[in-house]
Amino acid sequence: MPTQASDDAFADVKAKVDLVKVVQEHVRLTKRNKDFWGLCPFHQEDSPSFKVNPQMQSWYCFGCERSGDVFTFVELIEKTDKRGALQMLAERAGVELKKLSPEQKERADLRKRVLEMLKLAAQYYEYVLWKLPAGEPGRRLLESRHVGEETARRFQLGYAPAGRGFAEYLRAKKRSLADAHEAGLMRRDGTDFFAERLVIPIRDERGQTLAFTARTVRPDEQRKYINSPEGPTYIKGRVIFGLDLARDEITKRGHAVLMEGQFDVITGHQFGVTNAVASSGTALTDDQVRLLKRFTDELLLVFDADRAGREAGRKAAALAAHDGMRTRVATVPDAKDPDEFLRAGGAEALQRWQEVMDRAPSGFEAGVAEFAVGLNPSNSNQVETVGAKLREWIRQFPPSLHEAYAELAERKTGISRHLLLRDPEPAPVKPATNGAHPPAAARKVTPSRYLVQLLAVRPAAFDQLRGMLTPQEVDEDDRGVFVRMLESYERRGPAGLEAELAGFPPEEQDLIRRAWAAPPPNVDDEVAVELAERIRLEHMKGMHSGIIRELSEAERGRDSERVAQLEAEARELARAITDMERRG
Ligand SMILES: [Zn+2]
Repeated sequence: MPTQASDDAFADVKAKVDLVKVVQEHVRLTKRNKDFWGLCPFHQEDSPSFKVNPQMQSWYCFGCERSGDVFTFVELIEKTDKRGALQMLAERAGVELKKLSPEQKERADLRKRVLEMLKLAAQYYEYVLWKLPAGEPGRRLLESRHVGEETARRFQLGYAPAGRGFAEYLRAKKRSLADAHEAGLMRRDGTDFFAERLVIPIRDERGQTLAFTARTVRPDEQRKYINSPEGPTYIKGRVIFGLDLARDEITKRGHAVLMEGQFDVITGHQFGVTNAVASSGTALTDDQVRLLKRFTDELLLVFDADRAGREAGRKAAALAAHDGMRTRVATVPDAKDPDEFLRAGGAEALQRWQEVMDRAPSGFEAGVAEFAVGLNPSNSNQVETVGAKLREWIRQFPPSLHEAYAELAERKTGISRHLLLRDPEPAPVKPATNGAHPPAAARKVTPSRYLVQLLAVRPAAFDQLRGMLTPQEVDEDDRGVFVRMLESYERRGPAGLEAELAGFPPEEQDLIRRAWAAPPPNVDDEVAVELAERIRLEHMKGMHSGIIRELSEAERGRDSERVAQLEAEARELARAITDMERRG
């Protein structure tokens, strides 16, 4: 949840920037009536379907159905996050961001000092690697791994020599050792934490060093890799290794290649796989998927060929699907990992790589193939076991995909889709994630939905509805947004919706912005009243059938008292319904 302070910051900035001007820096807009139109920057098109509404400071695209305010626009166009958009727009509007509490300020200062220290360390290690005799073991390791100087410098690889080299360097520069300890660069005795290791900076998507991972150069060392501790700059599950270098290529090629190890990525870039990244020391997390989704909708998973690698691939495929991302899974032949495969390929490495990638099946299909290995379709025991595994596999994906996936699995294995879809218990309902819900146009407009759309463009109609309609009567799907709109109306009047919309859940924001861009055909108060009556009527009918159902149960249970009570309720409701229908 955003804090009060940051909410204020968003409102301050929003009041000072003009959406039309911000959009115009990226899109040529033409004025038509009160609105501006242009070619959508977020999908390919020849005729304008991107509309900016200056009154509401809101935009909507009729083509790709994306929508938002000035922050969402900057987020998408600059490929940043909400915080980043706020920063960019605040700078532009000359708004000083946030008055921090002393505690927050201290934390922010510490973070800044640690980031500076990490930057300094990266420069120092890189210098040692290339310029000092002490860097020799690091250079030899790179050579044996076929990593050239140009690639190494792009990743700013370095070498930490034995001893207290970095501490001495800091002393010579008159810098505080305390920050270096805080950054996890030094042991208590002042020796280098990464001593005698090749040091690999872990950077965020903007290229800022947040941590290091380091590979030993000593064959007798048990721990091959060690990492910086998590701290003020670094949370493992939030960083994607290599993203700063790969982001443009990912956008250009339309997919990211996700590998397991940092060295796989470095070798990948050396051999021309410049859209390669890694999930950096953890199984892929939801945060990482969302970070990647800013740059692409497709992940090509290339994990190690062992059992653990296959399992990690399946988990990643299901996880990504819930964020609306497609996956494919490639296995490199005759090698334990991509690093080994590429190095073995020599001059033909990239071409061989490309052939393997082109054949990569979807994440779902790869799982099916693994589960069905050696299946004999005429052996009913095997069919039962494999069928159970496939059923479980299908259920890990969003429900909207189940039917198509069962059909696909039937084609691949011969096991009936009915068996694969059979539910041992009701499937858990996963909330619709961004982009996973069907386009709004495909949904039928119910009276409740129509009313919400109407109220979005004519909030004053809430006055007409007072005493006519309670939130319980509104369809469950629209109840949340109805209540939120009503509350913002009660708090701040007709302008409340625009002021508070950014705090609504994303799908409700979409719904309202779509209504602003394309209002329903009829929006006067009279229509609002009519709709409220219809909603009420439908609600009463629903209640009526509920009572009838309960009634037959009570009859079956011979509960005569309950039967009498329910009969009375049903009669009364039926009378009210007839009354209403006669009036309407
Ligand atoms: Zn569009």
